[in-house]
Amino acid sequence: MRNHEPRASSSCAACKLLKRRCTPSCIFAPYFRSDEPKKFAKVHKVFGASNVSKILNEVPEEQRDETVNSLAYEAEARLRDPVYGCIGAIALLQRRMVELQVDLAIARARLARYSASSPPILNDHGSMIPTLAELPACGHVPSQEFRFV
Ligand SMILES: [Zn+2]
Repeated sequence: MRNHEPRASSSCAACKLLKRRCTPSCIFAPYFRSDEPKKFAKVHKVFGASNVSKILNEVPEEQRDETVNSLAYEAEARLRDPVYGCIGAIALLQRRMVELQVDLAIARARLARYSASSPPILNDHGSMIPTLAELPACGHVPSQEFRFV
């Protein structure tokens, strides 16, 4: 939020929470607007204001916006899942990816067997590719997320 100019009359969310005066050179002001108090509260709870300040000072100004987004995301994940934080979300997605790769391999093998054992026949849609309903069930893949045609 580099377009946000801190005003003398209103403290940024960080200074409000820390109960200190917000100065024009406040490192938090461009990234923690006063109308988003929860964003700083979460980042402060997980990382601590002093560490956030140190991190922002170490990062070039043009990358601070993204840094704050990343800190806010990580803080949110850590508060939601105190044990694993972001790693929990990554592990879950990796597990789902492996499951989908297995399902895809099974579907490809069945498709290969299907097309090898019978001459190409057009389905109701005029396509040689069978619809999901024509294929044997693929375990736990939710049909709404996984469509052929
Ligand atoms: Zn401030």
